Amino acid sequence: IGRFRARLNKGDSWLTRDIGSFFKADVLSPDALEELETRLLLADAGVEATQWLVERLQADINLGRIKNEKQLRASLKKALVELLAPIAKPLQIPPFIKPYILFVAGVNGVGKTTTIGKLALRLKREGKSVMLAAGDTFRAAAVQQLETWAQRVDVPILAQGEGADSASVIYDAVQSAKSRGVDVVIADTAGRLHTQSHLMEELRKIKRVLQKHDPYAPHEVLLVVDATTGGNALTQAIQFHEAIGLTGLAITKLDGTAKGGILLAIARRMALPVRFVGLGEAAEDLEPFDAEAYAEALIG
Ligand code: GDP
Repeated sequence: IGRFRARLNKGDSWLTRDIGSFFKADVLSPDALEELETRLLLADAGVEATQWLVERLQADINLGRIKNEKQLRASLKKALVELLAPIAKPLQIPPFIKPYILFVAGVNGVGKTTTIGKLALRLKREGKSVMLAAGDTFRAAAVQQLETWAQRVDVPILAQGEGADSASVIYDAVQSAKSRGVDVVIADTAGRLHTQSHLMEELRKIKRVLQKHDPYAPHEVLLVVDATTGGNALTQAIQFHEAIGLTGLAITKLDGTAKGGILLAIARRMALPVRFVGLGEAAEDLEPFDAEAYAEALIG
């Protein structure tokens, strides 16, 4: 929790700044809810999540439960946890699925490569053997960058030349993992093709190729989104989910933004498990998403 709070807020809570001044004697100012509403909307929590939270507060006010700052914080925290807990579902890799195929999608720049590297390290530390598949074959730089991460966290990587067929790179990696007894294959995928429909078609094709051999593969379809892009992160999540069917999200760059409200919007709109959050650029800066810790960090 301490780490979350330190990384997320940098000592400044966009949500609860000065909320002590919302009270006169033990009466909450009539403008307080409006102010909280504005703060939530400015942090990209979205209209639905914001309204839902404000209604929860209003209910507690009506019951006479919010008479001081401490009670307001407690009420806010309870509502936030209620909103976020259903999407805080860590990635569970069953030991009997081997190799477990983890497909990682995301638009260029969101932190996809970094997240793959961090994830490889995390799984390795949990005692799993990991192999990377360099499926973003459209940019030579993407393959190089993934190779750098593979070296840094010391896991094998399967790559082919620029322009190679992404589906066959990933398929070959899975075959190689099978013969070597590797536990988890993390497959990188293209982040931008000529058009968005090309991108989605490419991703669907990879899924089809994998499913020919195992109807349940890939076992996790993780989309990486960038919290600093606010509403775009939600739009991307909705579009990718419609096109390829996601099973989880990783939300990056929560350390560098006052727009952490996007998690609230995602919770309200998508009910899609948030597996991980990125809290920095280093290999260790990926944490499982914890609703309680996050709510606590927002409250400050
Ligand atoms: P990709 O194009 O999606 O593969 O993105 P990269 O993995 O290359 O990341 C783009 C930039 O975002 C790099 O400078 C990363 O160091 C940075 N980045 C990735 N994740 C995080 C994070 O959680 N926090 C911060 N502050 N930076 C991040």
